[in-house]
This record gives sequence, C-alpha cells and structure tokens, in this order.
Amino acid sequence: MRTGYDLELVHLTKRYGDTVAVRDLNYVFSAGSYVCLLGPSGCGKSSTLRMIAGHESVSDGSIVLDGQDVSYLPPAKRGTAMMFQSYALFPHLTVRDNVGFSLRMKGVDKPTRDAKANELLELVDMGEYADRLPAQLSGGQQQRVALARALITEPKVLLLDEPLSALDPFLRVRMRSELKRLQRELGITFIHVTHGQDEALALADQMVVMNNAVIEQAGPAREVFNAPRTEFVARFMGGHNVISFNGAKVALRADEVRLGATGLAATVAGVEYQGAHVALTAMTEAGEEVLALVPEAKFFNSPKNPGDAVNLAWDEGRLHRLQA
Ligand code: ADP
Ligand code: MG
Repeated sequence: MRTGYDLELVHLTKRYGDTVAVRDLNYVFSAGSYVCLLGPSGCGKSSTLRMIAGHESVSDGSIVLDGQDVSYLPPAKRGTAMMFQSYALFPHLTVRDNVGFSLRMKGVDKPTRDAKANELLELVDMGEYADRLPAQLSGGQQQRVALARALITEPKVLLLDEPLSALDPFLRVRMRSELKRLQRELGITFIHVTHGQDEALALADQMVVMNNAVIEQAGPAREVFNAPRTEFVARFMGGHNVISFNGAKVALRADEVRLGATGLAATVAGVEYQGAHVALTAMTEAGEEVLALVPEAKFFNSPKNPGDAVNLAWDEGRLHRLQA
C-alpha cells in the first residue's frame, strides 16, 4: 500500500525582475512528514510555497510530486492545497458551502459535496457551525474552516503560509497542536511556513531554515537546534551563544552555561527573570557577551546582579564549531 508521496524541488528558482527570491533550491520533502519552512521575513518562504502550489510561476528548475513534474500544472491539478495567511473565506457563503466550494467547481452534486463538507467540518471540530456565515465566527474558527476547505480536495501535500500568525498566543499554541494531530491523522505531508522558531520546533519533523533565498540548513528539528551549522542558524534559532574560541566561531547553548567557582571570568551585564529560567548576560574580558539560562531555583540560591563578577563554565564537548 502507498503511504505517501515525496515532493522534490529541483534547482527551483524564482526571480522577480532583478530580485532573486528563491535561488536554486534542491530538497526532498519526504512523504507524510510535517515540515516547517523557517526563516526571517523576505528570505523566500512564501515564494517557495506559492510555486509549489502553482500560484506563482517557476523561473527555473522544477517541482516533482510523486515522480511527476507538476511545475506547469494549474493549482487544482497538482495534488497540493494551500491554506493562506488570510483565510479568504467567501463572506456570502455559509461555512458548509465555503468548504464544499472546490467540489462545486468540479461539478459535484450538492448532496455529495454537503456530505463531504460535513465530514471535513467534523474533522476540524466545526460541525455545529456549518450553517453560519464567516463573519459569525472567531478568527480561530475561520481558520478551521479554511483548513477544512483546503483538505476537501484530498491533497497529497497541504501548504500552510504562516497559518497561526493572526491568532492570539493562547489560541496559537492550541491550534498548532491541532495541526499536528490532523497531519498525523491524515498522514499527508504538511509544509508549514513560519518565521517563529518555537512554532517550528514544536511542530516539525523536518525543519528547513532559509536565509537570503537559499536553504541554510535542513534536517530533523532536534538536529538543527542542537547542531546549527552556521552562525546565522545558531542566532536565528535562539538559545545559543556564538563566541570566538581558539580562533574559530563556536556555538554554545545558553542552557549549557553554568555559573561556577572556576571558569571564564566575566561581569554580569543583565539579569532577566523568565519564569522557569533566569536569563543572565555576562561580558567576558575579551568583550564578548554570553547568555546563560539558569534554572530559576538555582539562580535564586545565589542571586547575581549587574556588575557582579562571575565565572562561566560548561562541559567540554558542548562547544559546537560553526562553518565560516
Ligand atoms: P518571505 O515569505 O520569506 O517573507 P517572500 O517569498 O514573500 O519572502 O519574498 C522573497 C523576496 O521576493 C523579497 O525580497 C520580496 O520583496 C520579493 N517578492 C516577493 N513577492 C514579490 C512580487 N510579487 N514581486 C516582486 N518581488 C517580490
Ligand atoms: Mg511570507
């Protein structure tokens, strides 16, 4: 039995006039995985996603889904579906008719598409709202409807462009676990664009970090976090120090830095209470700033203040050399 479909980007490039938005991407999204495409604003995430969906033309290279080059197929023929940043529901159609819309375009009769729409609405826990209009729903509810609408086409790959950015922080965390559940249940590939590291870490089986139109690093979420390859990735993922050590740049996780009796001499520059941790920044004698995330109980056993002298220590082997 088939378990899914690989999606492959081959030398994929997008140019807008003189701007290269996506430069020669080569990547295989393995079947049935939750992939987060992560990177700062303007790095080419949406352009990549829109090319995969067929909402943007390819300048060079190709998109291969399940062994077939889909680069020049119209969006509805690709086996992909896209959920947009703005949910773009039709305001004059009920929730059920919104969800069934693409089936109506295909000429499916009303009883069949209503039944299918109801099924999808159940899946996203919106069954009881089928007769409402979009304006009668909260943002989070509209989003579930948009999700049901994208899924009714039974895509092989669901594309989501910053789907959680319009939600408040509480709802965002709830929706992201919903998305993960749905992906597991459906077993299809989700490609989820975000500029949030936390969101990517929480969701991704595979993480693809982009910067300046190229893939800077890709791999399992834990691997990217624990072994950032470049200074950009280390800084972008957060929670890491980038420091010079024996003439090379190295990364050191902030939660690996201890305040010890011996170690690198430094002066406390700032102390920020963060709940579970205290974020302590210290300036070394070489003028480098080092962040230490100290468990709060440990910190308050022996509190520090700006100006205090401290020694920074870490286990050998925790330093991680970065590529230039
Ligand atoms: P991201 O989604 O990562 O923020 P985008 O893919 O939207 O990045 O944009 C990548 C680059 O391409 C940016 O420099 C952006 O200004 C440019 N760009 C995006 N869309 C267009 C467009 N329709 N026309 C011209 N330039 C564009
Ligand atoms: Mg974008």
